[in-house]
Amino acid sequence: MNGDDPDNDIEHDELPSASGRLPSEPIPLSALQHAVYCLRQAALIHLERLWEENRFTAEGHQLHIAADKPGARRQRGVRRVTALPLASKRFNIAGVADLVEFTSQNGCEVPYPVEFKRGKPKLHRADEVQLCAQGLCLEEMTEVPVTGGALFYAETKRRQEIPFDTELRQLTETTIAALAKVFASRVTPPPTSLKSRCRACSLAELCRPDAVIRPVLAWRRRMVTNLIEPDETVR
Ligand code: SF4
Repeated sequence: MNGDDPDNDIEHDELPSASGRLPSEPIPLSALQHAVYCLRQAALIHLERLWEENRFTAEGHQLHIAADKPGARRQRGVRRVTALPLASKRFNIAGVADLVEFTSQNGCEVPYPVEFKRGKPKLHRADEVQLCAQGLCLEEMTEVPVTGGALFYAETKRRQEIPFDTELRQLTETTIAALAKVFASRVTPPPTSLKSRCRACSLAELCRPDAVIRPVLAWRRRMVTNLIEPDETVR
C-alpha cells in the first residue's frame, strides 16, 4: 500500500531547501517519520534533497496546506492553536504542529498535539514518533508534562489517541539520535532490508535499492568464491 509511505505526508513548510543542511540545523520533525520508515529515505529527502512528487504526496500537501493556516480560537474551554511552531534545544528538533489544544488543568494550560494525516492508521510507528517528538518540544517549551496526543486520519475521519509512554519516548529518542548521526556524517545509509517498504516507497525510482544492493551482493559473492577457490592470479 503506497499510503503507508510517510513520504506522502511531508509538510509543505518542511520541504527541504536546495541550499544544503548546516551541521547545527535542527532536525525537521517531519524527517523523523521518514527515519522510522527507512533511514535511507530520510537521508535522501533531507540530506541529498531528492524528492519525488506523486498523487499521494500531492494529496498530503493539500491536506497540510488546509491545516497550516496559523490561528487560535477558544471552544468549550479549550484553546486551539493551528500551525504552531515547535522546537526543542535539548533534542535539536524543530517543526510546526498542525494543531495544539490547550486545556486548563489546576491553574495551568496542558498542551495536547493533534497531527493530520492522509490515509488511515499505519502498521509502523512513524506517525506516532513524529507526534511524540512534538510532545517533547511542547514539554520543553511549556515546562508542563505532555502525556499524549492524537493522530487524525483523513480516510477514517477519526482521532487515534496516542499515549506518550516510555516505549514510544524511547523509540522517538533513538530515532532522533540515529538521524542526527546520519546528518552529522552526511553519509546516506544503505537500503532497508524490508522489501515491502521499498514497494510502497515513492522514492523507489530515485533510490534504486536493487541497484545499490546488487554491487554489495556481487562483492560478497566474489569474496566467498575467492575464499573457497583462491584466485591464483591475485596471489
Ligand atoms: S526505496 Fe526502499 S531503501 Fe529506498 S528510500 Fe524507499 S524504502 Fe528506503
